[in-house]
Amino acid sequence: MAQSAKKDYYEILGVPKNATQEEIKKAYRRLARKYHPDFNKDPSAQEKFKEINEAYQVLSDPEKRKLYDQYGHAAFSAQGTEGFSQEVFSTNIGDILEEVFRGFGFEDIFERATRERRRTYRRPVKGEDIYYTAQITLEEAFTGTILRIPLLREVSCHVCQGKGYDPSKGEKVCPTCAGRGEVYQRQFFITISQTCPTCGGEGVIREVCSNCKGRGSVPIREELTVRIPPGVDNGSKVLFEGKGHAGRNGGPYGDLYVVVKVLPHKLFERKGDNLYLDVNLKFTEAVLGTEIEVPTLSGEKIKVRVPPGTKEGDIIQVPGQGMPKLRGNSRGDLFVRVHIDVPKLSFMDKVFGNGKKIKQMLEELDKLLPEPSRIKEKEA
Ligand SMILES: [Zn+2]
Ligand SMILES: [Zn+2]
Repeated sequence: MAQSAKKDYYEILGVPKNATQEEIKKAYRRLARKYHPDFNKDPSAQEKFKEINEAYQVLSDPEKRKLYDQYGHAAFSAQGTEGFSQEVFSTNIGDILEEVFRGFGFEDIFERATRERRRTYRRPVKGEDIYYTAQITLEEAFTGTILRIPLLREVSCHVCQGKGYDPSKGEKVCPTCAGRGEVYQRQFFITISQTCPTCGGEGVIREVCSNCKGRGSVPIREELTVRIPPGVDNGSKVLFEGKGHAGRNGGPYGDLYVVVKVLPHKLFERKGDNLYLDVNLKFTEAVLGTEIEVPTLSGEKIKVRVPPGTKEGDIIQVPGQGMPKLRGNSRGDLFVRVHIDVPKLSFMDKVFGNGKKIKQMLEELDKLLPEPSRIKEKEA
């Protein structure tokens, strides 16, 4: 760009030589809006936009403007060359765009972004929760139990009190971003902002805590003793406040949830506070009635009376022999489901040698029994 070809900055902005800063700013905004390459696709717009920015950079700075008024373009010729000194334009292009965006109504977009980011970085954040699944047997759920839970969790660093840096050594403004927390990558007039890689967006740098390497927390192994109350059910969650991971930026600890998984039992089936047990009866017992002994979860055996004429599938309710209730001292019930064992005569003969005798007696019994109504009606 030859000096002779350079247009007068006042002319470029279309303002008189005695224009106020306010007038210069206004003119610049109007023109920048008009020629910004993002909005004006005319090929000459880019060159024009560059010109406007050059002019504004000088005229908006009282010192540069004074030099320009005195010496014209020569004021900025670097080392005697006629080309325009790049030094003049070393000011952040972000500022120029900021002006443009302000003109468009994106008021303080850069400052706001910086503020928001700072807030995000410094805002106290609660630590993460830990979920621990504890498998217990139905017996343990019946009696209640003490669990020892091995935890690997992050606790606040005791050296830096969770700050991640050494507070005694102070902090200094990040030299990379000059405290803005972000850096601008220029590609001609398009500027891309990125979180500053030096300070991670905080705008300041500090001596990293040597104990936690700046994380603010350190992992520890811990064994937690947890009392599981009698009657706990599958999927019950026990909450331990503050036993999760350490928070960030002074935020509180997360919580620990112990999720109880009750393993299936080989005898008892659980439905809420009630227990179900399946038993086999001789068909004579079903007919005559009897008293049977059944196991319970406490280990003791109890007697259950089977009334005469009990049928396959009948359920005998035994009150108070189910699971303990979580609230209160009572217990659920035990339901004994009855199944009738039908003997195979060939098996009886082989194992007990009495198959023929049983057959004889049953044939006699059969003669005594009346015909049932063959076809079973559906119960209404
Ligand atoms: Zn930085
Ligand atoms: Zn530390």
